[in-house]
Formats: sequence, C-alpha cells, structure tokens
Amino acid sequence: MSARAFVVGSGPNGLAAAIELARAGFRVTVLEGAAEIGGGCRSSERLVPGMIHDDCAAVHPLLAASPFFHTLELDVKLVHPEVPLVHPLSGGDAVVLHRSLEATVAGLGGREGRRWRRLFAPLVRHADAIADLTLTPLPRALGRHTVMGPRFGARAVPPATVIGGFLGGETRAAALFAGLSAHAFSRIDRPLTSAVGLMMGMTAQTWGWPVVAGGSGRLTEALADYVREFHGTVHTGVTVRRLGDLAEFGYRGASAGDVVVLTTTPARAAGLLAGLQPVRRRRRYRRFRHGAAAFRVDLAVRGGVPWINPDAHRAGTLHLGGTAAEIAAAEWATAAGRAVERPFVLIGQQYLADPSRSVRVDGEWLHPVWAYAHVPSGYRGDATEAVISRIADHAPGVRDRIVGVSTRNVSDLELYNPNYVGGDVAGGANSPRQMIARPVLRRPYDTGVAGVFLGSASTPPGGGVHGMAGVAAARRAAQWTGLI
Ligand SMILES: Cc1cc2nc3c(=O)[nH]c(=O)nc-3n(C[C@H](O)[C@H](O)[C@H](O)COP(=O)(O)OP(=O)(O)OC[C@H]3O[C@@H](n4cnc5c(N)ncnc54)[C@H](O)[C@@H]3O)c2cc1C
Repeated sequence: MSARAFVVGSGPNGLAAAIELARAGFRVTVLEGAAEIGGGCRSSERLVPGMIHDDCAAVHPLLAASPFFHTLELDVKLVHPEVPLVHPLSGGDAVVLHRSLEATVAGLGGREGRRWRRLFAPLVRHADAIADLTLTPLPRALGRHTVMGPRFGARAVPPATVIGGFLGGETRAAALFAGLSAHAFSRIDRPLTSAVGLMMGMTAQTWGWPVVAGGSGRLTEALADYVREFHGTVHTGVTVRRLGDLAEFGYRGASAGDVVVLTTTPARAAGLLAGLQPVRRRRRYRRFRHGAAAFRVDLAVRGGVPWINPDAHRAGTLHLGGTAAEIAAAEWATAAGRAVERPFVLIGQQYLADPSRSVRVDGEWLHPVWAYAHVPSGYRGDATEAVISRIADHAPGVRDRIVGVSTRNVSDLELYNPNYVGGDVAGGANSPRQMIARPVLRRPYDTGVAGVFLGSASTPPGGGVHGMAGVAAARRAAQWTGLI
C-alpha cells in the first residue's frame, strides 16, 4: 500500500507540495479551509459581471523564475504587458523598468544608467543561478553557486537605502530601486531589503513580470488539476484544527509512514500540533512575527486611468511612492505601526496584457484596476481615499472615470485567508532575522513532530507565488520516509 500524504492549504505552496509528493509516489489529499481553492492566488468578478480581478497575487515574476514551475506543463498562459513597471515621479516624469537591462539603462541615461548596469548586469547574466540561490534552500544552493553566491550577497546584504546611495541618492534610479525593495513590506533601511529589490529588478529585466491569462486563479486551478491527474484529491471547506482531524481522511500517523505538509502560519501550526511539538520549536513558532499589512482596492475604470505619463499607459505595474526618501520614510512609519497620509501604493493594470479581463458596457470599455496600499499591521482605518488620491496625483480626472470600487481592509483579508495575520500578505515580517531564520534557522521545514512539515510562505524562500516552500517541505517529507 502506498504511503499517504496530507497537505493543509491549497495556495501555491500547498498545491506545489501536493504535486511534488504525488510525483514521489504518495497518495495525496489536500485539505482547504476556504470554500474555494487557491489561497493567495485566486480571481473573481467582484465589481462587474465578466470583469476579472485578481483577489491577491496578480503579477508573477517569481512564477517565471521558479525552478519548480519550469518542471510542469500547465495549461496556463502567461502574458506580458509592454513594460513591467513604471514608477511615476512629479510633474509627469516617470522612470521605466523594461524587460531588457539595456533598455532600462538607456532610459535612465548617463551615470545613473551606468550604475544601474553595474548593479544588475551580473545578476541578469546569471539569472538562473540567482533564482536558484534565492528560491531554493540556502546551504545547498550556496554550495552550487560558489562564485555567484558571494557576488549576489555583496549586493543583497546592505539595506536598500545603501544601494540607493550607490545609485546617486535622490535620483530616478534610486527611486526605482526603493520601490522594488518596498516589496519587502518592511523598513528599507534594514539589511537584506536589497535582496528583494534585486530579485524583483532582475526578474523584470530577465523574464518580465507576466500575468496569468484569465486571472491568477487559473494557475491554482491548473495546479489542482495536476494533483488530480496523479489521483490526488482536493477537499474544500475543511479547516484542520488538530492533527487528529486528518484521521477522517485516512491519516494513519507517522508510524504508518504517512506525512503531512502544513501551509499555515507557524502559530496556527503550533496550535494544530499542540501537545506534540517540542517546547523550543513551539515557542519559536509562537514568537514568529508578522509584518505590515496590505489594504486592497479594486476599481472599475471607464477607459482606463488617464495617466499623464505616456509610459504609464503601457505598464503592467506602477509604484506610486515618490522619491527614494519618501518611500523609505513611508515604509519606516508603516513598519513602526503608524498610518501615513501618503502610503506606498502598487497599481496593477493586468488587462493591458490580458484584454479578456475587461468588459464592454453601453459601448464603453470598463477596465479592472488592482491596487493595494502598505498600511500598519492590524490597521483598522480605510485607505481607499489614500489610494485614489495617489493615483489622481499622476492622473488628474481619474475620479470621473471610476465607476466601481471594492475594498478589502485588514479584517476582510484575515477572514479571506487565515494566513494573513494582521493583514500581512508576505507570510511573516521580512526582518533581517526572519529573512534568514524563517521560522527557524536549521531545518526550517521541520515542525519537530515526526512526519509533519511546514511549507508555507512563513518558510524559505518566503512570500510570493513560486511554490518553492511547498516543494522544499515536500522533499523533506519524502526524505523522511526514505522515498527520495
Ligand atoms: C493582496 C496581495 C497581493 C499579492 N501580490 C502578489 C503578487 O503580485 N505576486 C506574488 O508572487 N505574490 C503576491 N502575493 C503573495 C502570495 O499570494 C502569497 O505569498 C502566496 O499565496 C503564499 O502561498 P502559500 O501557499 O504559502 O499560502 P496561501 O496562498 O496563503 O494559502 C494558504 C491556504 O491555506 C489555507 N489554510 C490555512 N490554515 C488552514 C487550516 N487550518 N485548515 C485548512 N486550510 C487552511 C488558507 O485558507 C489558504 O487557502 C500577494 C498576496 C496578497 C494578499
């Protein structure tokens, strides 16, 4: 009789773990608490019938970079906007991150362009090695990349503000890099935040920042189909509260060689494993910290946003945060728990790459515009106006074109997905400590309970749609049973 594997959670990591376990020969059961699969990778028609919004993850640089996804043949189409990212500045100016390093350098021009090239050229040239280094368990990856490991480390360890200084301080290049580094959802004057900026910039200038045709939900649907092709089963509406709950689905315990991969937060995993986990590990799980939050806004915009800058009309993503100093200050206050009037805002115009997401109503096109603002953990306010006024700064007249608004505050996000503790969408604070020890330094996927592993975004390599945390936890599980 083949060994059984149980995966709790059907987000990208859960489904990646399920596929990896099925490929290793386990009979797999996925249990999802929500009514539908997908975790942070779902889509919906929340404003106008037929108009598709990504609920959470929207832009997929990490999917394009993920070694795991390269091994799958999925019935999913990735489509690209003309340019991955535009970062508007004052007076209609904007800096553009292109899909090619040379084009970005040319746009920046002069000394800024040369510095940008010096920063990114080795990373773009060795993009596969960098993806392997940043997305797979570090000790072994470092052994595979003895040259690129230290070269990447020299750039990635300093705070993003230090790399901003190398790019000239208050320059357009520094603003662009600050915006990329703000994806850390953390103070960007702390060590290792550059790693995030470099990874985001490297992926854009190598593979681009694609979106999933038809919506991000198509990706998790395709992953679940893949699990079923291996005769795996996926149950929704099943919240697992105790390890014992799995017995109902055929779990026979570690002694029978059955394994479990949890893709929950560490605190929830500790609850699920109460009484079974070694005290030290349990304490570490309970002490795991969550970071700043997202405040989500979806808009239906007649004819699209009337950006002043022409490049903004071609961009899949926009960073609305101003100069490097403004971004650093806003992220600092947000991480310290203070709401700011002008938070860092991300805009997604996925419909530019995927026109199937828009609808025509009374002869006019309505386009879905996706946005979120960085807000403090547990924020109880309403950031809708902050998001719209940020857009209006660079697109006067946008208010007249908005025909629908849907917002999800921190409590809504927590209800939508219990992994979003306090509205944290990154799986845990990206503090220097937790970027290295996530949730623990040694054997980060082991829960300390025989046959039970943790593989959510709260384990390396952290947040994002790459599936690599789930894959690593699944491999540990297979190793534990001796199947690989
Ligand atoms: C607003 C927002 C924007 C984002 N944008 C991007 C982006 O553009 N690009 C990108 O790469 N990433 C983005 N992300 C991050 C990305 O969505 C997550 O990092 C990723 O989904 C994490 O995958 P996961 O499988 O670890 O967890 P999740 O996707 O969160 O899935 C975990 C699943 O486990 C379930 N679960 C939890 N506890 C239990 C339990 N006890 N029993 C049963 N089920 C349980 C949950 O219901 C959930 O479905 C974004 C996230 C948000 C919220």
